[in-house]
Amino acid sequence: MSDAPAAAPEIRSVGVIGAGQMGVGIAQVCAAAGLPVVLVDVQAAALDKAMAAVRRNLDRQVGKGTVSEADRDAAIGRIAPGTEMGALGDCDIVIEAATEKEALKTAIYGQLCPILRPEAILATNTSSISVTRLAASTDRPDRFIGMHFFNPVPVMKLVEVIRGIATSDSTHAAVEALAARLGKTTATAEDFPGFIVNRILLPMINEAVFALQEGVGDVRSIDTGMKLGTNQPMGPLELADFIGLDTCLSILRVLHEGLGDSKYRPCPLLAKYVEAGWLGRKSGRGFYDYGQEPPQPTR
Ligand code: NAD
Repeated sequence: MSDAPAAAPEIRSVGVIGAGQMGVGIAQVCAAAGLPVVLVDVQAAALDKAMAAVRRNLDRQVGKGTVSEADRDAAIGRIAPGTEMGALGDCDIVIEAATEKEALKTAIYGQLCPILRPEAILATNTSSISVTRLAASTDRPDRFIGMHFFNPVPVMKLVEVIRGIATSDSTHAAVEALAARLGKTTATAEDFPGFIVNRILLPMINEAVFALQEGVGDVRSIDTGMKLGTNQPMGPLELADFIGLDTCLSILRVLHEGLGDSKYRPCPLLAKYVEAGWLGRKSGRGFYDYGQEPPQPTR
């Protein structure tokens, strides 16, 4: 037997499970890259919203002259939306982008795996759940991998690729090739809590909230300081509002529990905002009040 890694299977068709914020973007970039896409959600209404969002995004690109009308129509035509998991049976890869709940994801895999061809790859877009543990719930841990896209998917260049402990080299190579076809750059992470980007980003956001809580600075001085002092397009508090403060808190809890180090303990002020329902942009109020234009700091 040769030790040469098995050739990566070429991915010619994609399934996406979950037509929310992330699934829509993933379906759009795959279709725009010429791949046929089956998009599945349990809610028919989510699928209608998803197709309208894809059209709106591509219309905007037609308006800017970056996509032709014919290419827009062809991309939309490549996406087959539906509520039946059975439609995913012929896909070379299925990218799961359903709600961030472990039991829900493993229930989806339990339904999906018997339908998939044995050689098909299963990828998860999870932000914080262990890829190794999710893989272990399937019949194909070697063909299971994390493909962590960033929001908004058509704009953000990065795909963080997460190798579970059993992920094979050929699965890794196949998703690297897929990401390149989508025009994305990859960063490969081993499967530890938070992977690379959230492991480094969330402690920075958390520290910004501690600085706010302790009165080191107000919202504006913390964000201006970090934006202009470290050359970031958004300050950490503005970015936290964009991500969602509930999402930030839940990722910090994963880091704290998974790594067992008190340096990841979530700031009590962050927990208090979440308890108040002040979740950031999506609820209209977080570290900024989005009811005013421009948004005004709340501290
Ligand atoms: P979302 O709530 O916008 O969408 C989730 C979708 O999954 C919903 O449309 C829901 O109907 C659908 N769904 C739920 N159960 C399902 C099932 N059994 N079968 C099929 N569809 C089902 O969530 P989102 O923000 O798009 O996040 C999806 C995944 O992407 C999560 O794992 C999240 O951690 C990850 N993620 C999110 C972001 C982000 O910024 N929002 C960034 C990176 C990764």
